[in-house]
Amino acid sequence: MSVRDDIKTVLISEEQIRTRSEELGKQITEDYAREGKAPYAVALLRGSVPFLADIIKYIDLDIQYDFMDVTSYAGTRTTGDIKILKDLDTSVVGKDILLVEDIVDSGFTIEAVKKLLFRKEAASVKVVTLLDKPSRRKVDVTPEYVGFEIEDLFVVGYGMDYNQHYRCLPYIAVLKDEIYE
Ligand code: 5GP
Repeated sequence: MSVRDDIKTVLISEEQIRTRSEELGKQITEDYAREGKAPYAVALLRGSVPFLADIIKYIDLDIQYDFMDVTSYAGTRTTGDIKILKDLDTSVVGKDILLVEDIVDSGFTIEAVKKLLFRKEAASVKVVTLLDKPSRRKVDVTPEYVGFEIEDLFVVGYGMDYNQHYRCLPYIAVLKDEIYE
């Protein structure tokens, strides 16, 4: 049985993601090049991996990247506290960070990670996210680069999971109702 049998609708196709990644990559290249900088990408595990792999192909600068894995502390989400499951392997002191996310929902994750990166003395932090759900925002944080704005839907694919499954799908999809039950 294929995981594709569990899909109700494909929300964003592989081709749409590729085209948009190329546009974002060009925009990021122009913005950083104008200031004579190259971004240091920090990608959040695990959901942003396919998007990182795509977008770096279209950033025509000497971009380097590292990974972090974080989770919100249960019960204290409103404070935006996060627990670091895997920290960066490299220093970000004085670097212009491009934080790479799969989806921004409440905004707690990027808000907390941005604070953390500034505590680690990053020079600047901008956020690029494949998806944004602005209607779900709980904190005042706006990603600089957004692939697609979506409604309040739980999506999977292209790195995003439901109980660790469906990350391998090459597009963004919504699962059949019975799968979520
Ligand atoms: P935030 O801290 O902005 O509320 O949450 C961001 C994280 O929540 C994302 O990195 C992602 O792991 C998870 N998330 C939020 N919305 C969705 C969704 O629709 N699908 C999946 N698979 N994960 C989501």
